[in-house]
Amino acid sequence: MPRVRNWQINREMSYPHEEHHPRWQFAFVFNPNRCIGCQTCTMSCKSTWTFSKGQELMWWNNVESKPYGGYPQNWDAKLLEMLENANPRGQFWSAKEKDPEASPYGTFAGLTIFEAAEKQARPEGPQRVLGYLPADDEWRSPNIYEDTPTGEIYDRDGQFGGSAALPEHKVWFFHLARICNHCTYPGCLASCPRNAIYKRPEDGIVLIDQKRCRGYRKCVEGCPYKKAMYRPSTRTSEKCIGCFPRVEGKDKTISPTGAPAETRCMAACVGKIRLQGLVEIDPQGAWVDRPDNPLYYLARERQIALPLYPQFGTEPNGYYIPPRWVPRRYLQQMFGPGVEHAIAQYSCPDRELLAVLQLFRSTQQIIFRFAIEKGPKVADIEVTMPDGGTKTQEIFNDTVVGYNKLDEEITRVTIEEPTFERPSAAHVNSI
Ligand code: SF4
Ligand code: SF4
Repeated sequence: MPRVRNWQINREMSYPHEEHHPRWQFAFVFNPNRCIGCQTCTMSCKSTWTFSKGQELMWWNNVESKPYGGYPQNWDAKLLEMLENANPRGQFWSAKEKDPEASPYGTFAGLTIFEAAEKQARPEGPQRVLGYLPADDEWRSPNIYEDTPTGEIYDRDGQFGGSAALPEHKVWFFHLARICNHCTYPGCLASCPRNAIYKRPEDGIVLIDQKRCRGYRKCVEGCPYKKAMYRPSTRTSEKCIGCFPRVEGKDKTISPTGAPAETRCMAACVGKIRLQGLVEIDPQGAWVDRPDNPLYYLARERQIALPLYPQFGTEPNGYYIPPRWVPRRYLQQMFGPGVEHAIAQYSCPDRELLAVLQLFRSTQQIIFRFAIEKGPKVADIEVTMPDGGTKTQEIFNDTVVGYNKLDEEITRVTIEEPTFERPSAAHVNSI
């Protein structure tokens, strides 16, 4: 198999195709600290793309309550177990080879889904990707075990209390919103025997060519995130299309000048947990150094947003700010060793980071660049850090300004939310 560079695991790995990179890459940051599990995102996607016959169980966007929820059921636990069986006690990160240039994650010393497939003989012959085909009943419930927590409310000595105290709650769950990660090295694309799956050169969105697809379901098996789904009415597989007409700037109601817009699920998010972007990619596949691009800033510059299961090896382009009350070992398995670093920053964001966090859901257009206008200091806040110590957070009423691809100003947000008092005489209640 050809060798490719995967920055998230900080090493080369084998992949069935040669490196070939888009000019821009669809990417997003989700902040589960703010997700309320309302499923507005889920329904906005369903009512746009998957409301037809044969798509009843198809949820391109889903929100699952962790640790018990999953769509399909137990998708991540099953694959983690398969990888562990393929490489017993070898699936770990080596923090020793930390490369500050690349990531705070260290180097993944285990096997990715592509490498594990090479090692495992199967009766039907060699496979390109380690995966499995979920049974029909595993797709039945979009969010089984909704809001079901785990943990123990009593201390070891039988005392009640402290079940919801930071840094780690004893009783916990959280909502994990998921869409296709439009991976750099997609498992779905690698496993398709018909070459029906491709990555668009202009934005890295991964699509299934419906004319070439014969419904073999190898992509359903090969996507580690289970985001390629089978449609029995057409006998083809379908997946999230990244709302590409919006990303192409076709919706003039959002941008009259034709600048790229965010997807429907991003735009609808009630909890303001989502920020979508396009990051510039150089011909070698590296992210072009753009610290004033919000996605670059959060994922690469500050490393507060981490990829979901980077050890699978697909270099997913979805990033998450880890929920700060959740036991660290669970989070480290899910987001890699960068978790402590990310949570420490999120617990007490500095002036610049606090400003960038205000950009979430402030506009439906994709923000390509931000700038910060400095304002006066308005408060000092005492913050308890994850290590138990305290820190003083200085709050300034700065203004963060966002610009679209055409460098037009599209959003302007202050740190302090402005309040307005409605003059009662001018707006009497008409009911
Ligand atoms: S998340 Fe799955 S379906 Fe989406 S690009 Fe990656 S491997 Fe393919
Ligand atoms: S709309 Fe936003 S807050 Fe609601 S479930 Fe989806 S991601 Fe979470």
